[in-house]
Amino acid sequence: MTDLNQHRLKRSRARSRRLREAKLVLKGALDIEHPIMAHIIPIRRCNLSCAYCNEYDNYSKPVPLDTMRHRLHLLGRLGTGVITLSGGEPLLHPELDEVIRSIRANRAMAGLITNGYLLTAERIQHLNDAGLDYLQISIDNIKPDDVSKKSLKVLDRKLQLLAENAHFHVNINSVLGGGIHNPEDALTVGRRAMELGFTSTVGIIHDGDGQLRPLAEREREVFLEMKKFEKRHFSRFNGFQENIAHGRPSDWRCRAGSRYLYICEDGLVHYCSQQRGFPAKPLEQYSVEDIRREYITQKSCAPFCTISCVHQISYFDFFRGEQTRVVEPVPEEQLVSIKVAGA
Ligand code: SF4
Ligand code: SF4
Repeated sequence: MTDLNQHRLKRSRARSRRLREAKLVLKGALDIEHPIMAHIIPIRRCNLSCAYCNEYDNYSKPVPLDTMRHRLHLLGRLGTGVITLSGGEPLLHPELDEVIRSIRANRAMAGLITNGYLLTAERIQHLNDAGLDYLQISIDNIKPDDVSKKSLKVLDRKLQLLAENAHFHVNINSVLGGGIHNPEDALTVGRRAMELGFTSTVGIIHDGDGQLRPLAEREREVFLEMKKFEKRHFSRFNGFQENIAHGRPSDWRCRAGSRYLYICEDGLVHYCSQQRGFPAKPLEQYSVEDIRREYITQKSCAPFCTISCVHQISYFDFFRGEQTRVVEPVPEEQLVSIKVAGA
């Protein structure tokens, strides 16, 4: 394909994506009884082993395609707006393109979170053809070390391939905390992302319950600097940033289990990647009754939560839907120690 055709195709896909995003936002604002976003795991296995990660293993088999199709059909029936494939490393799933086609066939927007190692020009073309809408790569440092191999040095060639070939939106996420040695690396990663025409976000590595660990002073400065990069897209609405940077609690309503769902490899619905086990109900049995119940359920882990996609989804219902039911995924004594640490 010539560069001109490639460019035209990219623009036309971006237009169609924006139109579908606008419909998603409208539907999300008008109807509170459907999930706006779901993360689903097609495979728990990962080809890397980042020191801070509690979301992977090195042995799981891929979820069979028919099972994935059935789960995606169920999410479609609930009216889910965006379905994002997460892991483990989703690119290890041998039929991932068919999984993406199935997301689109269920009228949802299709996202993918990957460590990028397995991307090639051909693989990116297959993702284009399957109808992928969004891809996110996390890059943790400049050079690989004992904490993470998701390094700009290793992945820069993959980023160039994406810039040349991808017809979908690409976001580069960098992280702070969790033992990452050099916070300045996040700034370099963010600048490189912008240079290649991608968006850039920054996340804070949470503890095993999705809770905030206080940042050191330099990490906090880098975090606030990085937030300026986010001004060009959806994340600019993220008003949690100051609180996160200073280790302060946020006053918000977590709509996990309602507007946001996390579907594990066993087909159970959980609040999020860090609160697996709540409510842990089979997707097969998940209904609008569950969505209504979780919508009004206050989660005790909310004040110090760092799960940014759930923060963003909460804006749809920020000024409505009081929460009158309470669950405590994080035990009270743990919350107290987190508060002390963040004070
Ligand atoms: S690449 Fe992602 S899923 Fe794999 S170990 Fe690292 S953080 Fe976990
Ligand atoms: S507040 Fe919600 S998103 Fe955050 S850790 Fe708790 S359940 Fe997960």
